[in-house]
Amino acid sequence: MDSSAIVRDLFAYSHHHPDEQPKLHQLFEVMRSHRTQGRCIHADMCPEVVVGAIVMNESRNVLCGWHDDRWAFVEGTLVADDTSLLTASVRVLMETTGWFHVWPEGEDQSPLHIDVQESSSGSLRFGFRYLVCANTSDAEITPNGIAFSWRPVSSVGQPALRTAIEARTSSAT
Ligand SMILES: [Zn+2]
Repeated sequence: MDSSAIVRDLFAYSHHHPDEQPKLHQLFEVMRSHRTQGRCIHADMCPEVVVGAIVMNESRNVLCGWHDDRWAFVEGTLVADDTSLLTASVRVLMETTGWFHVWPEGEDQSPLHIDVQESSSGSLRFGFRYLVCANTSDAEITPNGIAFSWRPVSSVGQPALRTAIEARTSSAT
């Protein structure tokens, strides 16, 4: 996948969340380095980018999973054929769940949330999260062994995410 798609979504998210720019700085620098060097010079320390869907169904419930004291996503890595991170998150959701009626929510297709985790080796893992709708209430999915369930937005336990979902879904109506 073209790194310009990652940079575009980083810019869009930073514009909406200027207070989070410091945590995203390293990924901006890495993308700049890849472009100017024409290759990766970071070896094992090159950050990983993953995409994940935050799924809302027609009952306005959100698919929630919880794992290792963190919010869990139906997530995966990018492949060469992905045209954007948003479409990659939809692809990963469809591949993981087998659901076919899945589509991006609303006109604003920038990331709903970007979280940053440090791996045991010290490299960073950037999770780009997108709001995606699904025409289902199927909850019998356990991607990566994590149990998920549908819950009202108000019960989403991570305040930053809950606020972001509420803001996006209220502005979309
Ligand atoms: Zn690199």
